[in-house]
Amino acid sequence: MFLARLRAAATLASVAAITLLIPMPHLHAQPGHAASVTVKPFGKTAEGEKVQLYTLTNRSGMEVSIATYGGTVIHLLVPDRAGKLADVALGFSTIEPYFKKSPYFGAIIGRFANRIAKGRFTLDGKSYQLAKNNGQNTLHGGLKGFDKQMWKAEVVSQGPPTIRLSRLSPDGEENFPGNLRVAVTYTVTNRDELRIQYAAETDKATVFNPTSHIYFNLAGAGNGDVLAHEIEIHASRYTPVDKNLIPTGELKAVAGTPFDVRKWTPMGAKLQAVGGVPVGYDHNYVLDRCPVVRPCLAGAVWEPKSGRLMKVYTDQPGLQFYTGNFLDGTIKGKGGKVYREHDAFCLETQHFPDAPNQPKFPSTVLRPGEKYRSTTVYKFSTK
Ligand code: BGC
Repeated sequence: MFLARLRAAATLASVAAITLLIPMPHLHAQPGHAASVTVKPFGKTAEGEKVQLYTLTNRSGMEVSIATYGGTVIHLLVPDRAGKLADVALGFSTIEPYFKKSPYFGAIIGRFANRIAKGRFTLDGKSYQLAKNNGQNTLHGGLKGFDKQMWKAEVVSQGPPTIRLSRLSPDGEENFPGNLRVAVTYTVTNRDELRIQYAAETDKATVFNPTSHIYFNLAGAGNGDVLAHEIEIHASRYTPVDKNLIPTGELKAVAGTPFDVRKWTPMGAKLQAVGGVPVGYDHNYVLDRCPVVRPCLAGAVWEPKSGRLMKVYTDQPGLQFYTGNFLDGTIKGKGGKVYREHDAFCLETQHFPDAPNQPKFPSTVLRPGEKYRSTTVYKFSTK
């Protein structure tokens, strides 16, 4: 009897030992890590509305936290080559600084990402004047764009962790026409992707061009500049701009210019040649036509030290590459770290800037009865 028990125990022990030796399918998974969505209070707006923070964690431990204010990505934790997580999104650890100080860190941008010249456009013979919040132009939807609005949140699924944010942008909001019902769905897949899906419908003709404004630093937010990060963008053309960053209307070949990043290029390599005040990339790339099913690969960024690689997939025609030129050391972010010029990059998938005033650019008009649908994926791995 005693011997039989001893034998059984020995067998169990060796089974356990063997189990430990067999590689598990998700190598960088922490044992017992289940995908989840959790929610906690995250302060209040000036009007007293309660902000919630949703945290989406996948099976390998990638974690994305999103606030219901602005639909803002507050944290984005992804592993490096050694499996060590770092927060690669610039931002703040509380909600209050987002109300006034944030240059759109992590936010959903709408109704119209990027610039509209002189804040004006004409649609079906009617002209609309928007707020000029960027010199003479409108930037990122006006004074109180989607980044400064409260969103209703619901959990769509625990695995893969998915939340849906929605709101009604009323007719005349920021002077844009039409009641616009808009939803943004965030998913963190088990392939370490942050998937962002936009959906909208309107009851009057309007223009619509949403994006996500995450400021990335693949070495970790606040860990220096991104000039050694390497980038490639699958675009043979870009939209040149005037000194106010309004497109001239031309689609210009990147070949022979500092905008040519079709092959891996350190972000700092051609920065001075790009010029601008302050210097750096802040340009819309005209993505080459997608050879496969959309969304397709628009570009990628690699950080050599950590090995982190981020690929961007989209169904949009444009990609704004911005090297955080306007960060000037006056903002202290998470962990008290100061954000300086070029401490981050943004890859904003979008229609071209000022499209409502540029007849040759793909149209951003959304009409009643049409369903706006768009998907962007930021996929993380290491190399
Ligand atoms: C624009 C920049 C702008 C920044 C504001 C970017 O999308 O391209 O010109 O300064 O947003 O945070």
